[in-house]
Amino acid sequence: MTRILITSAIPYINGIKHLGNLVGSQLPADLYARYNRARGAEVMFICATDEHGTPAELAAAKAGKPVAEFCAEMYEVQADIANRFGLSFDHFGRSSSPQNRKLTQHFAGRLKAEGYIEEVSEKQVYSNADGRFLPDRYIEGTCPNCGYDSARGDQCENCTKQLDPTDLIEPRSAISGSTDLEVRETKHLYLRQSKLKDQLDAWINSKTDWPVLTTSIAKKWLHDGDGLRDRGITRDLNWGVPVKDGEKDWPGMEGKVFYVWFDAPIEYIAATKEWADARGLDDGAWESWWRTDKGADDVRYVQFMGKDNVPFHTLSFPATIMGSGEPWKLVDYIKSFNYLNYDGGQFSTSKGRGVFMDQALDILPADYWRWWLLSHAPETSDSEFTWENFQASVNKDLADVLGNFVSRVTKFCNSKFSPAVPEGGAYGEREQALIADLTTKIRAYEGHMAAMDVRKSAAELRSIWVAGNEYLQEVAPWSTFKENPEQAAAQIRLALNLIRVYAVLSAPFIPTASAQILSGMNTLDMSWPDDIEAALGALPVGHEFTVPEVLFAKITDDQREEWAEKFSGVRD
Ligand SMILES: [Zn+2]
Repeated sequence: MTRILITSAIPYINGIKHLGNLVGSQLPADLYARYNRARGAEVMFICATDEHGTPAELAAAKAGKPVAEFCAEMYEVQADIANRFGLSFDHFGRSSSPQNRKLTQHFAGRLKAEGYIEEVSEKQVYSNADGRFLPDRYIEGTCPNCGYDSARGDQCENCTKQLDPTDLIEPRSAISGSTDLEVRETKHLYLRQSKLKDQLDAWINSKTDWPVLTTSIAKKWLHDGDGLRDRGITRDLNWGVPVKDGEKDWPGMEGKVFYVWFDAPIEYIAATKEWADARGLDDGAWESWWRTDKGADDVRYVQFMGKDNVPFHTLSFPATIMGSGEPWKLVDYIKSFNYLNYDGGQFSTSKGRGVFMDQALDILPADYWRWWLLSHAPETSDSEFTWENFQASVNKDLADVLGNFVSRVTKFCNSKFSPAVPEGGAYGEREQALIADLTTKIRAYEGHMAAMDVRKSAAELRSIWVAGNEYLQEVAPWSTFKENPEQAAAQIRLALNLIRVYAVLSAPFIPTASAQILSGMNTLDMSWPDDIEAALGALPVGHEFTVPEVLFAKITDDQREEWAEKFSGVRD
């Protein structure tokens, strides 16, 4: 059996993500997971929240909560929204888990043993009042360039000038406001990525099937300018994985934690252990996905992410894996995405511009969003969400094409025959032509889905829906019925069976509607139409069904205008 390990880039714990975030990783990863399960593959689909680091500390302080409590609450919020969007993770973990703590410390110990860790002394700002070192963004002061009085130690957000904390005039702690600051010496661990450059280069060169977007970004970071730089993997913070050498203390590193970029991707592995632990399974259960010496040799590992995450996943995380000297699974294929823009500009979390995941579900069911986002996925270039396009796509594709087909066929059968698959008549030339056409289209759909060509898959699925509509329009059972009810029965028998086939084929895109259709057709038969002619006989004569409720309501012009107005401004 094919075994596929799928990870989606893990969302940062702060705040609820917007639709641009969703379509850049989790949603296409879910599409691929659902498709492969439907085709009989054994799938492990992993995601998690990325919880450590300065932004979580700051947000928790702002909310007046201990950071662990803040993260626990935000995790529940994100998990609930993911669930309501139909994201079918096998496990949605947390990078703050004990499993990730242990594994991160293990990797650091291995990297040290293999000679890939260097201890570096640097100067950093220390706040006597706060009793801690301050990361650059925890220091505020007046910008030497524009005079803005709340510039951060890393950048002035007024004039965008990149700054060092020592550039600021009258620097103060962003935590306490104290100006009692001093520059102190502190020691940090660096991952010697530069030593792994040739190995990384050879590995990336071997990935000839990767999308150009992925390899070009990786190559740029590997070769441009100074090339691959060594990177600090520790921070003077309280919130994070404590620095340890495996299970041993690391002399001189007491009170420090690993930098969030180091522990976050390790959570892909740790979350799979969380999955096993939650089910009372032994280590072999998760190791068979991740250790090539323990069964992961036959696993195909695919990662989904936005283009901003590519450098970490093509260089830094592989450097951690390769440098460990242990047989961990490296990624086989990286599917990366460009950005989705919002109505003439960018989605903005800080400005609350665009539609966020919770707001989307407040106004329409998940399938409407899933269909639009996937059928307009920013694959070869950035794409743009507009309300006009969203309305047109939902109304035409979902309501007029798929929804209408299901509705017309079931209602007609119910009124002229009975709410059961009718008997009589036989398939003729027109039906054979349809079967041939559908066979071609379904095989093309399978090819696009396997290749993760998301937009092409959506277009092919739509054309499969259209083929059924064209058939119905052409044979017009409502006319046939008057002269030849037997032939009309055969046409409707085919169409009713086609409804089940549509539900099965469409489930990766629109799982809720698909389940609703199958429930209406009164069947649990989710078998894939490998042989479309056979599949069109799956619901036998006499099989009863219920006429489903309206599957997709159309979006009105009033709604479109109201929502466009509502989401243009600032989120509360
Ligand atoms: Zn400035």
